[in-house]
Amino acid sequence: MPGTLIVAETSGGEVAPVSLELLAAASALAAEGAGPVSAVVAGGEALARTLIEHGAEHVYAAPEGALDPGCAERGASAVLAAREAAGADTVLMGQTSLGRDLAPLLAFRLRAGAAMDCVALTLADGRPRATRSCYGGNAVAEVSWRGDVRIATLKAKAWDAAEPDASRQGETSAVEADAEQRVRVIATEAAEAEGVRLEDAEVVVSGGRGLGDPSAFAMLEELAGLLGGATGASRAACDLGWYPPAQQVGLTGKTVTPALYLAVGISGASQHMAGMAGSKNIVAINRDPDANMVRAARFAVVEDYKKVVPALIEAVKALD
Ligand SMILES: Cc1cc2nc3c(=O)[nH]c(=O)nc-3n(C[C@H](O)[C@H](O)[C@H](O)COP(=O)(O)OP(=O)(O)OC[C@H]3O[C@@H](n4cnc5c(N)ncnc54)[C@H](O)[C@@H]3O)c2cc1C
Repeated sequence: MPGTLIVAETSGGEVAPVSLELLAAASALAAEGAGPVSAVVAGGEALARTLIEHGAEHVYAAPEGALDPGCAERGASAVLAAREAAGADTVLMGQTSLGRDLAPLLAFRLRAGAAMDCVALTLADGRPRATRSCYGGNAVAEVSWRGDVRIATLKAKAWDAAEPDASRQGETSAVEADAEQRVRVIATEAAEAEGVRLEDAEVVVSGGRGLGDPSAFAMLEELAGLLGGATGASRAACDLGWYPPAQQVGLTGKTVTPALYLAVGISGASQHMAGMAGSKNIVAINRDPDANMVRAARFAVVEDYKKVVPALIEAVKALD
């Protein structure tokens, strides 16, 4: 088969974590027989080296800035040039600001189908098949492509990035990004963030509507701080204005896969589970023994959180 091209993004001058996850997904397809893995990135040698160490056999280097969010037209011209050079029939990108713009544009240019927000990819009868959630997270759909070119965006954290292998060898060549950019980004504003990023945290302490009171989040933040983690929230809590939407976990929020996910006063609706079901250990604190989160948890404390969380904080402090 002709192979898979991933569109790599950068963050802080390095390859973004989601792009390493794309390489893991592409390498898994290659292991099933989907052909070689290549990558296109806007930037220089160091980025190419990282991509090769994580599974790319060929890296196409586009001009700096060509794959910045908001640059879909330039980005598309770089990706189209790389795809043609690689002969790839599958193009993967993250479900990011760039991916959300780029995938439909590429699909239009290539007369191909785009499957957005995929959580699994496999080969069925030699052709890629993707899994994505539908009906607001209440069901999953398996989709395949009729044409010979496939575009997909992949949800962050749905794949684990491979460990880098410094002995891997690959080739690098340049591609142009010569399309006229009709959209101009005039400013970007980073969301305020303190401490560990929710998506990167190994411990996430999340609160829901069951807290009954926004001030209870201070308690959760204290516990998360003691455990070296981050604080998240359910959509119900965010919609009530109790916690910033940027910290929402779930289908329409962030996806997290920490070692420990502590759900406090969260019922476990399917849309919330869609963002944290990949956590290694789920612990629920909930008054309702039949709550979905209690059933999904490895350990559950069926009790009022006001009794449990302060005791937990004292117990963690006593460990120091
Ligand atoms: C299209 C769509 C997308 C959505 N996306 C998301 C999303 O990304 N993320 C998300 O979270 N939701 C999302 N939702 C909303 C989701 O369906 C639920 O409504 C929401 O997750 C419920 O939040 P909750 O568990 O905090 O509240 P509730 O469902 O009200 O649950 C509160 C829980 O707290 C427990 N409780 C109450 N008091 C206490 C106490 N004192 N001590 C301990 N436990 C207590 C209760 O037993 C209950 O289990 C989405 C919905 C739709 C339709």
